[in-house]
Amino acid sequence: MRITSAKAIPVEIKLTEPFAIASETVDEVENVFFRLETDTGIVGWSCGAPDTVTSDTAAQSVKVFNSVIKKLLEGADPTRINLLNEIIDKEVHENTSTKAGVNMALYDILGKAADMPLYRLLGGYRDKIETSVTIGINPTDVMVNKARHWVSEGFKSVKLKCGINPDEDIDMVLAVRAAIGPDIKIRLDANEGYNIDESIRVVNTLESQGADLEFLEQPTRALYLYALKEVTGKCNVPIVADETALTMRDSMKLIRMEIADVVNIKLMKTSGITNAMKVNTFAEVANIPVMIGCMNESMGAMAGGVHFACACANVKYADLDSVLDIAKDYVKGGARYEDGFVIPSEKPGLGIEVELE
Ligand SMILES: [Mg+2]
Repeated sequence: MRITSAKAIPVEIKLTEPFAIASETVDEVENVFFRLETDTGIVGWSCGAPDTVTSDTAAQSVKVFNSVIKKLLEGADPTRINLLNEIIDKEVHENTSTKAGVNMALYDILGKAADMPLYRLLGGYRDKIETSVTIGINPTDVMVNKARHWVSEGFKSVKLKCGINPDEDIDMVLAVRAAIGPDIKIRLDANEGYNIDESIRVVNTLESQGADLEFLEQPTRALYLYALKEVTGKCNVPIVADETALTMRDSMKLIRMEIADVVNIKLMKTSGITNAMKVNTFAEVANIPVMIGCMNESMGAMAGGVHFACACANVKYADLDSVLDIAKDYVKGGARYEDGFVIPSEKPGLGIEVELE
């Protein structure tokens, strides 16, 4: 099989409403779709979600694809994914969201060629995974209402963004806990907004008042490894590394230095599924569970996260909710939600149908 044509197509994605975290607020994002046509009639699709975390933009993504990656793909055998990763990595050192979209489109072709849904081709550990829904920073009454709404939709876990004002965060979390009852999981994500003392104070106060946190994600600045390690050592709830776990090497370092209890893998950070499986493997060997997260991404990308999560035993936590915040996606299929779980498509590959206008 050979790739006969490779295209990058940028699209604007409007969110249903502005989404605020400790470090930024966004109301519209750009994703870049990748379409890889082969001489067998199989077409592979996926997309990348450029982001401040991956330090790239849609314009840069399209430029590097058209000027470098396109000619590396055209004429190549798309099933030799590890070889193509190596060839692309030699030429493109950054642009991880671009490499992620290309990598997932190659896996989409592989799944279609094998006539198997990707999660089963990759190992098929489970056929669904529980996910949280993330609620951006808002006044407490708004966050309480949103939490109630998602619980009424069947979700069993909410991830509350925090990290701007520790005292307001404590009140907000207690109000959400009172509103949704004891059976729903509450996880927090401070997006680097706290210092060491604030992190420990927020966790200890909330635990002493019965908030029953599932975990706290990235309380301190990404590059301050010893700060995160100190918080991890002093808190009784698991601490998740997200921004600290940017590259594969970062993840290896934080696992070896025992900096966090959980590694949050995002396919946009790892350049796709191949490296996500590598990070997951060395986390698993170190007895550290993995969480799968997402950026502001279309189902064209998020489906890759669902298939990866269901393939791998060590992926214990999922936060795969980006499509719930999108006003109108360009993709059908991929995955669906039911009773708080996200369930991958049983169609071959990623199981997505892309309809770009
Ligand atoms: Mg995070």
